[in-house]
Amino acid sequence: MKAVYLMQPGTVEVKDIPTPSPAFGEVLVRVRAALTCGTDLKAFVRGHPMIPMPGLFGHEFSGVVEEAGTGVRGFKPGDEVMSVHTAPCHKCPYCAIKLYNLCENIMYTKILGAFAEHIIIPQNILKQNVFHKPPHLSFEEAAFLEPLACVVHGMRGLSIKKEDSVLIIGTGPIGLLHLLLAKVKGARVTITGLEPDRLETARHLGADNISLPSLLVENIETATAGLGFDYVFECTGQIEVWENAVNYVRRGGTVILFGGCKPGAVVTYDTYRIHYDEITLKGIFHFTPADVKEAYKLLSSGVINVKTLISGSYPLEKIHEPFDKLSRGEGIKYAITP
Ligand SMILES: [Zn+2]
Ligand SMILES: [Zn+2]
Repeated sequence: MKAVYLMQPGTVEVKDIPTPSPAFGEVLVRVRAALTCGTDLKAFVRGHPMIPMPGLFGHEFSGVVEEAGTGVRGFKPGDEVMSVHTAPCHKCPYCAIKLYNLCENIMYTKILGAFAEHIIIPQNILKQNVFHKPPHLSFEEAAFLEPLACVVHGMRGLSIKKEDSVLIIGTGPIGLLHLLLAKVKGARVTITGLEPDRLETARHLGADNISLPSLLVENIETATAGLGFDYVFECTGQIEVWENAVNYVRRGGTVILFGGCKPGAVVTYDTYRIHYDEITLKGIFHFTPADVKEAYKLLSSGVINVKTLISGSYPLEKIHEPFDKLSRGEGIKYAITP
């Protein structure tokens, strides 16, 4: 089978490797769509601590079960499926206290290699985080299960209500998914980013206000009683933006720090602001099986429509093209259709 390897930052290669066969409890999936993701782009541009190089590449996918190993229940050849690339172990101390996204093994048992003709889904993932794709959802849309699960996780426990004011900083795929979900919750959403095209996309997707970062201070008038936003979502992974995000939240509000910065990054906050204005800073990482299930429901019911976020499709052989485009800030998310 053909599979994409990320050799080093900036270099991807399509290699011919033996098609794996599923062991006990596993399925072999013929990948039909795999999406580019911010994490992939970071790995492509500068390397990433969680993505080994040279190595198989890509983790957001959907496809068709081609072969089921012995002991597999609920999935058979021909089934159209949507999946994520991780699942918690249920054996470690964090799983014991139900913080499944923080499972000590979750990042070490993940599967990479969605930019390939085939991928094996291991038993642990198959049992917890794989769903049958409804026929009305395209393979490209179904592949949004993983990024949407991350966003669902970030908003879980936040009790965002109708008319609450939300600021989203960043108009990449994750910022735009935050926008879609915040609108489902009835929030009034302002979104800010550097790319005018993406801001227009955000408006089209339902943003109440769009703003270039330089004009954001004036837009604070759109927030709750002109005080500041109830919730601010940082979706860029830039140190300055992490630090700046607290300037837009109202007293008693919450800042969600979603975008991962480069390893070793350090940020500074004014303790007076955090303490006397009672600001909550909340880090967000990954997702739990409950988040994946919720994301599946949002996609399959059509409550969240991700069509607009797909900027184009490419065959496996042209894998470098979408990444070159994304490096130049062109497009939102691309589908690879092997
Ligand atoms: Zn992803
Ligand atoms: Zn665990």
